[in-house]
Amino acid sequence: MLEDLKYLVQLQEIDLRIKEQELAQEQYPVAVEKLNAQIAHTVSGLNDIKEKLLQAENDKKNWEEQVVKAHSGLEKSQERLNSIRTNREYDAVHAEIEAQKSIINSAEQRRNNLVAEIEALQKSVAEHQAEFDRIKTENDPLINDLQQKIGAIDVTIAGINEEREAIIPKVGRHIFRQYDLIRSKRKTGRAISTVTTNRTCTICYKVLEPQLYNEIRKGTKVILCQSCGSIMIWSPGESSEP
Ligand SMILES: [Zn+2]
Repeated sequence: MLEDLKYLVQLQEIDLRIKEQELAQEQYPVAVEKLNAQIAHTVSGLNDIKEKLLQAENDKKNWEEQVVKAHSGLEKSQERLNSIRTNREYDAVHAEIEAQKSIINSAEQRRNNLVAEIEALQKSVAEHQAEFDRIKTENDPLINDLQQKIGAIDVTIAGINEEREAIIPKVGRHIFRQYDLIRSKRKTGRAISTVTTNRTCTICYKVLEPQLYNEIRKGTKVILCQSCGSIMIWSPGESSEP
């Protein structure tokens, strides 16, 4: 096998690692954003429900104050009953008393409704808090991990690039140019089709003619796939067949 072809396979492997890192460089920040958005969403749900609970507690306090106020008005009215002289006065005070009783009734009713509502809201706050705690516990380590990876990517790429620079001179200039041209046109960055005993191009899956297959096995020259144009290199190590 041409030494060039052996190094070309290594170069492809290096280039794919760089590509993988570059892809991660795009995807990791998006993943971090998603994880943070998930936390923010649960925080906002928790805060909304806490806000409702606070409002209900304030309302309950207001209605309780109304009850106290109406009770004190009721007492005063009842005291006045003792000093009444005319029927007209009696009717007026009696009406006051009825009005205050009615206020007390409806305020107590509302206050009691709020007690039930507050109980439900407290339960909901606890559930939202548990959900927030769960998401936070799950997401925080993932975010930290991704951020560390993001921070390290440039160094990782630089390291792989050094490997690349070291191997390029070992590949013949002509073969390198051919490889790099094919690679640059492909989204996957894959320019090399490693041929195994499957006797197919591993990129386009075209079945190889016996003579071509034998040529590839010899590995004495650069052979391109007639169908997809990939550089075909014999690589029995990747075969799953004996
Ligand atoms: Zn092909």
